[in-house]
Amino acid sequence: MSKASGALIVVAGGAGFIGSHLCAALLERGDEVICIDSLLTSRRSNLAALRGRRGFSFVEADIIDGLPVAITARTNEITRIYNLACAASPPQYQADPEHTMLTNVLGTRNLLRLAEESGARFLLTSTSEVYGDPDVHPQPESYRGWVNCTGPRACYDEGKRAAEALTFDFGRMNRAQVRVARLFNTYGPNMHPDDGRVVSNLLCQALSGNDITIYGEGEQTRSFCYVSDTVAGLIALMESEIGGMEPVNLGNPDEMTVNQLLGLVMELTGTSAAVVHRPLPVDDPRRRRPDISRAAQLLGWSPRVPLEEGLAATCQWFAEEIGATRNPAVVAAE
Ligand code: UDP
Repeated sequence: MSKASGALIVVAGGAGFIGSHLCAALLERGDEVICIDSLLTSRRSNLAALRGRRGFSFVEADIIDGLPVAITARTNEITRIYNLACAASPPQYQADPEHTMLTNVLGTRNLLRLAEESGARFLLTSTSEVYGDPDVHPQPESYRGWVNCTGPRACYDEGKRAAEALTFDFGRMNRAQVRVARLFNTYGPNMHPDDGRVVSNLLCQALSGNDITIYGEGEQTRSFCYVSDTVAGLIALMESEIGGMEPVNLGNPDEMTVNQLLGLVMELTGTSAAVVHRPLPVDDPRRRRPDISRAAQLLGWSPRVPLEEGLAATCQWFAEEIGATRNPAVVAAE
């Protein structure tokens, strides 16, 4: 494959929802991208638009197992390493908790060692889950969180906490230049229709006319960030020359209840599907909203895409993806 003019960048988890958008944005800048992905929870179809693009290559491998020759053979050329590799929706990361934990610990160590050998800058995508079920609201990076380390979410929450600790240790010991982003709920095209998250579930259920599942009373809150905003924040953080030894929240502070999200989805799809309530999952955080002052100050970053706009684009994408017919009146009005 011909080489692009820019940097050589490794994106672990590049076939995933956010990773595929990140790869596209980096290619757009003229960078060369090697995507490594196990395809365990991501999808080959997310790569369809990337394959054949100048500067893009894909290697199917699990970062737990060490890094493949396609990457190590080019160690001296690599300038940036993004780590987005991990199952990220609660049902998926809980399906194989041992693998989730080791992806974060062993996988992150393998990529950090590559950063050490290559001199490349390393960015870890961590998560708002490090705050657990927060008793400080909104959540600034200084908040140390309230995580249940023995519960069903611990494989992910504690795995990401361990990955953060390891990343900052490499940074502190001058073994690698590091950056850590804490991503809050992100949505957009390329989400897996079956990943079990609230945005994908509600949209797909509404579009296909299946029962819409609300867990608990639906009064828990989340703050949803459109994927293009998240990707812009990740690149800005990676390229920032300052602030490496502090985590940075990336999310949209526009907080709403799950019931309010449901209202938007019903309006957007014109669905007549029934709403059913299911038990609230164990340790489900009651509320979540990022304090993004640090990202604003450090990177000049803030989200730009309003939820109504992002949700409409995501709805359109899911409608095509699952072959559902949307309410013709709603489509005509767009
Ligand atoms: N949720 C829901 N119905 C669903 C899926 C999720 O009510 O079909 C709720 C879930 O209990 C949580 C919120 O929506 O309170 C966000 O869940 P998600 O799995 O998207 O992400 P989380 O922020 O919990 O990691």
